[in-house]
Formats: sequence, C-alpha cells, structure tokens
Amino acid sequence: MASAPANVDPVELDKFGALAHRWWDPQGEFRPLHALNPLRLGWINGLAKLAGKTVLDVGCGGGILSEAMAGLGASVTGIDLADKPLKVAQLHFLESGVAVEYLKISAEELAIRKPESYDVVTCMELLEHVPDPASTIAACAKLVKPGGYVFFSTLNRNPKSYLLAIIGAEYLLKMLPKGTHDYARFIKPSELTRWCRDAGLRALELKGMTYNPLTDQYRLGEDCSVNYSLCCTKDG
Ligand code: SAH
Repeated sequence: MASAPANVDPVELDKFGALAHRWWDPQGEFRPLHALNPLRLGWINGLAKLAGKTVLDVGCGGGILSEAMAGLGASVTGIDLADKPLKVAQLHFLESGVAVEYLKISAEELAIRKPESYDVVTCMELLEHVPDPASTIAACAKLVKPGGYVFFSTLNRNPKSYLLAIIGAEYLLKMLPKGTHDYARFIKPSELTRWCRDAGLRALELKGMTYNPLTDQYRLGEDCSVNYSLCCTKDG
C-alpha cells in the first residue's frame, strides 16, 4: 500500500508528549485549550450541526475537542502522531464515558486509506506545529466528503501576534510553557485561505479569538490578528 511522506517535526511531538499527563488539568499548561473549547465547539456546531455526523479531529492531542464533539452526538475519530497524548485521550474515556476512536496515523496516510469519509474534519492548533502545513490542509481536504466542512485554527504572523502569543503568553503571563510556539511557523489568514483554495476548499467564515488578560476571558469576534479559525467547505 502507498504510504504518505512524513510531515512531522519530532521536536514538536516531544513537547506535547512531555506535558501529556497535564492535558486534562483545567489550570495546567493546556488551560487555554480548556478555556477556548466551549467557544470553538459552539462555533463549529453552529455551522456543521454535529449530531449524527462522522467527524475526524486531526492533531487531537488529549482529546479536549474530540470528546466535546462526541458529547454532542457526533461519531468522532481523533488522530495524532504523539503516543502520550493519545494514551491520555484513551484513558480519559474511562473517566468521562465519552467514546472517541483514537488512532496514531498522519492525516496524509489516512487520506490515502479513507478518502472522502468524514462529514466534518477539524484541525485545530496544529498547522503551526507541522513542517508543511499545505500538505496537512490538502490531506484534510481529501478526507472530507463533498459538501462537508473543514475547520482550521492557528496563529496569525505579525508583530502583535509575536508580542501577545509568545512574549505575553509564554514569558509574561506564563500561560504556555516557553518554546510552545515558533513565530516563523505562524500563518497569515491569506496564506491559509490560499492553501485551502489550492486544496479544493472554499472559505466560508473566518473568526478571530481574543483573550483579555484583565478579565481572563476569551471571546470570538472579528479580530483575527492573533488567534483565528477558518471554516471551509468542499463543494460537491
Ligand atoms: N487539536 C487539539 C490539540 C492541539 S495541540 C486541540 O486543539 O485541543 C497540537 C497537537 O498536534 C499535539 O497533540 C501534537 O502531538 C499534535 N501534532 C504535532 N504534529 C503533528 C503531526 N504532524 N500530525 C499529527 N499531530 C501532530
């Protein structure tokens, strides 16, 4: 069987592996993901109507979003290439009772094995950690059924995102461990939408996510200057 070339940075996998045991601690290193989760879940569900859908969560980590989507009645498969986060995700099922199928496989490889198999593909906070984001995007586009939805989220690349996402979040507020993000890998919305278009996806909605350190609140809105998400569809 054909196998896809590796699009993975082992240093990135090690970072997530080293912190995996903290994944479900709402006050730990993954606190921003916990805090963001209800907002992104509501946005995804509003557009894709998750109940009864088959969903693939690419780069699922410990399963924060995967479980929440399954909780809304979707049949969810989570894939990641790091062993420890996947193990944490599988163990968390014993606690939460929310069943998700977790697999260690790349999006590129699964796209060869199961093209056009999912109603919805989510790929959140992953693209800024892979060497070739366009390849991940193309794989997500292959995996979704025609008429289905693909969601991406990542970090914009500009002086403000450098200040807030790296200096602010990692050094001043210590919301994330130092070295979590590499500025050079941040992605402008224009780059993301171009890669999506090249992969046969049509952009439907761009949403910004902002964090207010004074109120410790996240909100969704029009400001895409730091964290943002894009919803696309694959026309049938
Ligand atoms: N998507 C999840 C977790 C984001 S953290 C969420 O938003 O809640 C980023 C995850 O991407 C980590 O679990 C890491 O192991 C995974 N990852 C990094 N490189 C990857 C790759 N090339 N393929 C699949 N997963 C990868």
